[in-house]
Amino acid sequence: MLKRLLIPLCLFSLVSGFALAQNIAEDTDNAPRPVKLVPPPPPGPVYIRCGALFGGTSDQLEQNMVIVVERDRIKQVGKLSPPAGAQIVDLSNLTCLPGMVESHTHVFLQGDRKPGQYDAQLLKQSVAYRAIEATTAAHAALDWGFTTIRDLETEGAGYADVDVRNAINNRLVWGPRMQVVGRAMDVTGSYPLQPAYAWDVPVPIGVETVDGIEGARKAVREQLSHGIDWVKIYADRGGRIHDNILETIPTFTLDELRAIVDETHRERHRVAAHATGLLGVHNAVEAGVDTVEHGNYIAPEDMKTMVAKGIWFVPTPYVAEYDAQWRAERAGTQPQESPGLKIEEETFRRALQAGVKIAFGTDVGAFEWDMSPARQLVTMVKWGMTPAQALRAATIRGAELMQMQNDIGTLEAGKYADIIAVQSNPLADISVMQKITFVMKGGVVFKK
Ligand SMILES: [Zn+2]
Repeated sequence: MLKRLLIPLCLFSLVSGFALAQNIAEDTDNAPRPVKLVPPPPPGPVYIRCGALFGGTSDQLEQNMVIVVERDRIKQVGKLSPPAGAQIVDLSNLTCLPGMVESHTHVFLQGDRKPGQYDAQLLKQSVAYRAIEATTAAHAALDWGFTTIRDLETEGAGYADVDVRNAINNRLVWGPRMQVVGRAMDVTGSYPLQPAYAWDVPVPIGVETVDGIEGARKAVREQLSHGIDWVKIYADRGGRIHDNILETIPTFTLDELRAIVDETHRERHRVAAHATGLLGVHNAVEAGVDTVEHGNYIAPEDMKTMVAKGIWFVPTPYVAEYDAQWRAERAGTQPQESPGLKIEEETFRRALQAGVKIAFGTDVGAFEWDMSPARQLVTMVKWGMTPAQALRAATIRGAELMQMQNDIGTLEAGKYADIIAVQSNPLADISVMQKITFVMKGGVVFKK
């Protein structure tokens, strides 16, 4: 009897649930209509006259080029004359480039390097407030000429980066194209704020705490269900220099890392590993992560593995320079080059020599968003890249890292019209990339 009753009941709730879902989807007259700050792209064609152009496909600038844009895509690039009466954007005194790609950002951090800053953000600001700040950081990224970013964790703000990404895609607010990670993963007891406060004071933690092989697989499944693009893990912490080698404490065991990588890859996503020193990098690379973040010291044999497996290297040297700067200012002295930065430089030069794939990323958010992350291009050139190599690291190489090379990273027909411009030749002076005077994203002019 009970069985006979249950089946119609279940059927009823299934049918009524379906009807409700249909009502929600179809009742468009009553659907909320939020204000959208970003207009759709004009149908075009729009002709952009560039005095010079670095398209990303060669090392040279091309003079007097025209980019034809239709809706959100590039239709044509070449030496052509716009027809009479055409819609023209005149950048004939500027150099055009592809919108830059920042492969390591934190829109949920507004500067956290100085004592107390990180804790204050987690303890005194709600996630809602931090999400509003994150939209202003995303706005800043676009203003600095970064039309695409990979944002590598919210530091205690859950999956709110998924919401910021979606709000940008829905044109609610201005911002770059984003790939996001939600919460990074680290092992028990490794990540702030937990180890910093009294054991009987409950405090938030900037990551998801994950332990054991089963815990690792479950965490990956749960995180991916919330709409993240990448899984991020912390492979090591701490650090001391011994014989010119940065030695760190590995967090996850190799088996735990392998479980995370296997589960993530099985679900067709990828893993970014914060790994700064000898064993952290070694374990991450052995486990087969897709990107090594920071990589302040990488052993030569691990570089070989990175080349063989196609693992990306995202060095972040500017943060160390920033630290040296504010410490010196505080002490009233001149900034000193630290032994740590020397090791970073030596690693960078070896990676360049070994042919490791390098993409541009700075950890911006660790330093404030009111300074252009493009300042790190100067360091990368100082450390041995040609200006064209550095520009490619911040355009097509970043696009490849994000597997978006068919859509962004060069100025070519078919790609999104993500176009920036600067006042002088960046191949002659890379520092000009800190002063972007024109930004178009997906055919919509953001800055002129
Ligand atoms: Zn970071």
